[in-house]
Amino acid sequence: MSKYWNERVHKLEPYVPGEQPKDKRYIKLNTNENPYPPSPGVLAAIKAAVDDSLRLYPDPEAADLRAALAERFGLSSENIFIGNGSDEVLAFSFMTFFSPDRPVMFADITYSFYKVYANLCLLQADVIPLDDSFKMPVSAFCEPSGGVIIPNPNAPTAQGISIESIRKIIEADPDRVVIIDEAYVNFGGESVVPLVKEYPNLLVVQTLSKFGALAGLRVGFAFGAPELIQGLNRLKNSINSYTIDRLALAGAKAAVEDTEYYKRTAEHIIRTREHTIEKLSEMGFKVIPSEANFIFITHPQYDAEALFHQLREKGILVRYFHQPRISNYLRVSIGSDEEMEAFIQAVADLVKA
Ligand code: PMP
Repeated sequence: MSKYWNERVHKLEPYVPGEQPKDKRYIKLNTNENPYPPSPGVLAAIKAAVDDSLRLYPDPEAADLRAALAERFGLSSENIFIGNGSDEVLAFSFMTFFSPDRPVMFADITYSFYKVYANLCLLQADVIPLDDSFKMPVSAFCEPSGGVIIPNPNAPTAQGISIESIRKIIEADPDRVVIIDEAYVNFGGESVVPLVKEYPNLLVVQTLSKFGALAGLRVGFAFGAPELIQGLNRLKNSINSYTIDRLALAGAKAAVEDTEYYKRTAEHIIRTREHTIEKLSEMGFKVIPSEANFIFITHPQYDAEALFHQLREKGILVRYFHQPRISNYLRVSIGSDEEMEAFIQAVADLVKA
C-alpha cells in the first residue's frame, strides 16, 4: 500500500504468474510452455527482421500478419485483431465488451486472470460452478448476463466443451458477447473460429504462446465480426497503438505460415500426454480428460500440496492452486519425452516412499 497509488490501484488483485525461479535448472512443467522450439522458419524470419528498420515504428495495423491469418482461417483481415499476447487481447476485450451494470459470467474453476480483469474493469462477476466432474454447465451459461467468457479447453482442468454447447450459449442472447478463449485448442480440441462468420456476438481468442512455441514473443489474436474488431481497435488506439513490435510481427507471420511443423509438434505432445496419463493412472492417479498440453491430476491417498513441494525439491516445477474444490489437484504441463520420464520417475519414487 502506498499513499501515491490511486484508489483503483489500491483495490486491484493482480494475477500471480507461474514461478520462473533462477536458483537452479528446473524441469519446468508449470506454465504450459511448448517443450519444442519454434519452427526454423520463425527463427530465420526474426533474425532477418533485425536490421536498421528497427528505428522505425512497427505497422500499428499488423496488416501482413492479419492477412496471413485471414488466409489460414478463411476469414477477412477485418475479422482479426492482434495483441501483445492473448492476455492483452483478453484485457482489451473485457474493457470493450463488458459493462458494470450487468455481470460477466465465468466458471468457478477457470483461468484466474478473468477475475482479475473483471476487478480491474469494476465489473460484477456471475461465477458459475463447474459440475462435479468439472464440466461446464451449459444451461447455466445460457441464463441472462452481460457477457460470457469460457476457455475451450478449460484451464486448469484441461477439459473441452462441444461446439454444439458453445452454439447454445451464443444463441441464448445475441445481445451479449461470448468470448471463447482457445489458448489450448490445438492439442485435441475443436475450434469455433469458423463460427465468427455466423454469429456477430462471438469473439474467439487464440495465442502463439502454446501451439506456436512462442510464449517469449508475446502474440495473441482475436477473431470476430468486423464490429467487434473495430471496438477492440478503438480501445487499443486509446492506450498504445504499437503493441506488436517488428520482430514479433515477422516471427508470428512465419509461425502462422508454418502450420505443418506445428501440427507435428502438437501430435508429439499429445502422444506424450497419453503416455503420461497411462503411467499416472497405473499409480492410482485420477486424471481429468485432457484436450490440452497439460493435465490436471489428483490422487486419493496423496496430498497434492505436499507432492508439489517434494517435486520442487527434486527440481521439477508443476502448478498447485490453493483454491476451493481443487486444493488436492496438480496441473502438469506436458514437456518433452525425457522431461516426462523424469517426472513420472520422481512421482513413482515419492508415491512408493
Ligand atoms: N488464456 C488461457 C486460458 C491461458 O492459460 C493463458 C496462459 N497463461 C492465456 C490465455 C494467455 O496466454 P498468452 O498471454 O501467453 O497469449
